[in-house]
Amino acid sequence: MDNNILERMSQELEAAKSPEELQEIWRKYLGKKGELKILLKSIAAMSDAEKSVQSPAIQAAHKKALDLFAQKEKSLTQAEAGKKLLSQAEPLRLQKAKIGHLHPITQTIRMLNQTFTEMGYSIMDGPEIETEEYCFRRLNVPSDHPARDMQDTIYIQEPNILLRTQTSSIEAHVLEDYTPPFKVVCPGRVYRNEKVNKSNHFIFHHYQGIVVMEKTSLKDLFGTIEYLFKKIYGPEVKIRFRNKYYPEVEPGVGPDMQCFNCQGSGCAVCKGVGWIEMGGAGMIHPNVMKMAGLDTKKWKGFAFGLGLDRWVMAKYNITDIRTLLGGNLGYKYYKNESTL
Ligand SMILES: [Zn+2]
Repeated sequence: MDNNILERMSQELEAAKSPEELQEIWRKYLGKKGELKILLKSIAAMSDAEKSVQSPAIQAAHKKALDLFAQKEKSLTQAEAGKKLLSQAEPLRLQKAKIGHLHPITQTIRMLNQTFTEMGYSIMDGPEIETEEYCFRRLNVPSDHPARDMQDTIYIQEPNILLRTQTSSIEAHVLEDYTPPFKVVCPGRVYRNEKVNKSNHFIFHHYQGIVVMEKTSLKDLFGTIEYLFKKIYGPEVKIRFRNKYYPEVEPGVGPDMQCFNCQGSGCAVCKGVGWIEMGGAGMIHPNVMKMAGLDTKKWKGFAFGLGLDRWVMAKYNITDIRTLLGGNLGYKYYKNESTL
């Protein structure tokens, strides 16, 4: 017999990579018309003399071929199974579980922090449970001052321990604890005894800024606020400043932004005015500086407190403040919502 048959088959088996190729090899060598099968069949027609010489070699070659084939089939099946497992594992890797995203308030705080740190500000924190002294008195709001009526305070222990109503309380600490010059921002949660509705909540957020330097003016304050609005809402944003009264500053101003919901034509979000009050600001009152032990001849300062929730709502077109602290994960906002 042709000794090369086994060798050829062995080489072809070695190179085979799929069950289809394996089948082809079987057909070529071991199938009905396969080379080895024909040889095997030819034994019957041989003379006894031929048989005794050729039969054992042919039988051995046939058996060897079957063994080689079985071996290859086994290794190929294992490889195929492995491949199949991998192909099943692939979609599992792609279907990563949804783990959510940062809260819009956190996203906005981080955006503001980034903007202010780029301008050289430090970020500071302060206690949410405050004393009357740091929440009011050190900010030029004595207990009989009419401004106290403007804020319904949630007391933990009347009249001294309370939940801070404004992040200006952090300002009182910063002015006392640090030596100027400094530029600081403080994001934080504040509390007031408010009735909850679409535009008010008893828990909300302020973003306070405090700057104390030898030379600084209202112009710097306007520039800072304007830069901030443009950075967060884009260069087209329309803002205006109005004279406002806050006891901790003199003079006081309030930055308004054209309503994000109606673009100035008036809607329920802006209460028909077309503008939304975004915070309060001004030059730090000399009394506040003096109470912190700062020399008002040497140091000047400005402060601003942004109504952070409004910044978040304007940024993400959220028309109901309750959404921010609500638990509805399926919440979707609708621009120009008509059912306000
Ligand atoms: Zn509006």
